[in-house]
Amino acid sequence: MTAAALADALVARDLSSVEVTQAHLDRIAAVDTDVHAFLHVNESALAVAQAVDARRAAGDALGPLAGVPVAIKDVLCTQDMPTTSGSRILEGWVPPYDATVVARLRQAGMVPLGKTNMDEFAMGSSTEFSAYGPTRNPWDLDRIPGGSGGGSAAAVAAYEAPVALGSDTGGSIRQPGAVTGTVGVKPTYGGVSRYGAIALASSLDQVGPVSRTVLDAALVHDVIGGHDPRDSTSLTDAWPSFADAARSGLQDGTLAGVRIGVVKELGGDGFQAGVTQRFTETVALLESAGATVVEIDAPSFAYAISAYYLILPAEASSNLAKFDSVRFGMRVTPAAGGTVEDVMAATREAGFGPEVKRRIILGTYALSAGYYDAYYGSAQKVRTLVQRDFDRAFEQVDLLASPSAPTTAFPLGEKIDDPLAMYLNDLTTIPANLAGIPGMSIPMGLAPEDGLPTGVQLMAPARQDARLYRYGAALERLLEDSWGRTLISQVPDLDETQQSAAEEGVI
Ligand code: GLN
Repeated sequence: MTAAALADALVARDLSSVEVTQAHLDRIAAVDTDVHAFLHVNESALAVAQAVDARRAAGDALGPLAGVPVAIKDVLCTQDMPTTSGSRILEGWVPPYDATVVARLRQAGMVPLGKTNMDEFAMGSSTEFSAYGPTRNPWDLDRIPGGSGGGSAAAVAAYEAPVALGSDTGGSIRQPGAVTGTVGVKPTYGGVSRYGAIALASSLDQVGPVSRTVLDAALVHDVIGGHDPRDSTSLTDAWPSFADAARSGLQDGTLAGVRIGVVKELGGDGFQAGVTQRFTETVALLESAGATVVEIDAPSFAYAISAYYLILPAEASSNLAKFDSVRFGMRVTPAAGGTVEDVMAATREAGFGPEVKRRIILGTYALSAGYYDAYYGSAQKVRTLVQRDFDRAFEQVDLLASPSAPTTAFPLGEKIDDPLAMYLNDLTTIPANLAGIPGMSIPMGLAPEDGLPTGVQLMAPARQDARLYRYGAALERLLEDSWGRTLISQVPDLDETQQSAAEEGVI
């Protein structure tokens, strides 16, 4: 069931949170050996659920998602569960405090199911850079679930959790959404607190929801979003209800008068034929629902990946300097002893994986005296050009659209030794991070050639997240009407009840 349906059943007392939580824990027990979405399952989940049920029985006023389980990407600090960010260097580390978004989930009465797998420090597009082994795509266990937040997306796609949290620095919520047939939203930069989110690149990072429907993403966004004085980049805006926006999109279902721009640079050559085909059909669907579709030229987007892979490593090399063996996690003392620097070097050598080291070296180099202007400074100028392309586009249209990822899920191992091929997965998602605007990935059907999920990305101007939810929900309904509810992942032991429910379109 979706989070919205669970919430209704909980309010109606048709289900208890203990039952709902137990069902998801059972599902995790049944499939997660294969999927490996979770790094840690919360031993207190049932106790939390029981407490919510007791509060409901006592007539306490509860939030809309009270009693609904949620999975949490391991980049987010949780004071009762280890937080590793997918790295050996933080193995077993239990933070002294909760990330603000986690505290808000708890306050809302949601039940944390556990921590989900991710590429180490959120660097990657496949979860293969997790120090704890990859997550597998529930649609095909030999394929990647996307990354870095492949654990959250796979957990939701495999029905191990109704909703989850992710983080998106260059696409880590939206690209896993695309390849697992789930919904993922990167909010406006500053719209959701990053306090207690282990930083990758601070000018790009955003926390956001992962779900199976647009309405569920909106419900979670309403819980985690809004100003946080503990995050200096947090916007002080009064945000509208995103769930109301999604509901109005579902109800009227029209896109009459909405102007949508298809970004020329985010499609075409290099995109899988089936992805392009589904996208073309999706655009036709938008037009049939009354939207005006125009092509948009964004010439600077051609340089977005290059700029991102200088800015991100530069900021990451600085953020990761704090993993120095003194303050957090692992400490390795060289056999021959040595200075504090020797201990730090030995710890970082043993604690960081290859992709993290590659980016620290790249970033340190790009920031070094003599190269700063040539690399980091130039990349920042390109970033401004990307922002201007968006500004120009949004003078003409209300929303921008593109495929969420250039291909469907590729086989595990295919790109692990080819960093540039791995980086190209983020072609479509990176511009939104560079500009700080919100983006959403919605499933747009299965690619005909391989039967794997594809996603459409919608982007809106900064602060217009509600527009994404409203028209995203309308588009989701159109897509579902044209597809039927066929987006059911085939995890290995999908039992008979679920299979027949899936066939009847119930789940
Ligand atoms: N795949 C991108 C990268 O490796 C995105 C990462 C992210 O959004 N955390 O940098």
